[in-house]
Amino acid sequence: MFRRLVVSFLSASVLLGGCPAPSRSWEEKGHVLINGHAIDSLPEPLRGFFSTHRSTMEKRSQDPDYWKLDDEEERRYHYIDIDALRPYPFTDFPLDYEAATRAFGRLRLREEGELPWRIEEYFDILVQDFENGQWEDAAYTAAILGHYVADLHQPLHTTKNYDGDLTGNKGVHSRFEGNLLDRLGDLTLSVSSAVYVEDPVASTLEVVRSGYPLIRTILQADSEAGRAASGDEERYLGILEQKLRPLVEKRLSEASSFLGSLIYSAWSLAEKPNPPSSPSE
Ligand SMILES: [Zn+2]
Repeated sequence: MFRRLVVSFLSASVLLGGCPAPSRSWEEKGHVLINGHAIDSLPEPLRGFFSTHRSTMEKRSQDPDYWKLDDEEERRYHYIDIDALRPYPFTDFPLDYEAATRAFGRLRLREEGELPWRIEEYFDILVQDFENGQWEDAAYTAAILGHYVADLHQPLHTTKNYDGDLTGNKGVHSRFEGNLLDRLGDLTLSVSSAVYVEDPVASTLEVVRSGYPLIRTILQADSEAGRAASGDEERYLGILEQKLRPLVEKRLSEASSFLGSLIYSAWSLAEKPNPPSSPSE
């Protein structure tokens, strides 16, 4: 499959016959890393609780991608092709969902993706879980929230050119988040301490804005590596690793930190309840 992707890239006019559509998500490794490291950003007593629920955080991190298999409606929650709606830097982008539907039309918004508001939805559920003392549910909700936060930090989830079709980089989505991530082996993530997030949707837009210039970096690296490798997969990935490892590690770290901040903020809004004393996991 990968060879076909590289070959297809090298002759950009050849479309990929028979290949599955890109998954539009960090693959398992990325999701597990982001959710797991988010725990490190939390203050006590959250850190203690989520440490005992690390397996929930990691194992359920990819659930929403499985939901997509049975539910076409789920797909739109994993991306926002924001450049189809407003030009960079998206200064007048409506944050409120109803305002956004008025601005773009409900159908168009569903087409271009609704990821920021999916994060808002799961953030609100997490606040309720904490308020209700449903800590087991909170661990699961945080894991799901983490999935969408991870997708938000994948720059190719925020552009209509998500698979490189518009720039001769067809198939870049899988090469970047799948093949490259596998190739990178152990990754060094550096997370910051969780901080209170005043407005989750506004913060998601900041994430999109900060990641948007990286799309160009990824596409250029893909083009240059493709040219230099002349069809040699190993060489292609080696060059891509050299060019993009810092970008991937930084973005995964930012995703973990942001997830930690959302968990901390939801808990703060619920007036910082104490977790159950005896862990059940
Ligand atoms: Zn996803």
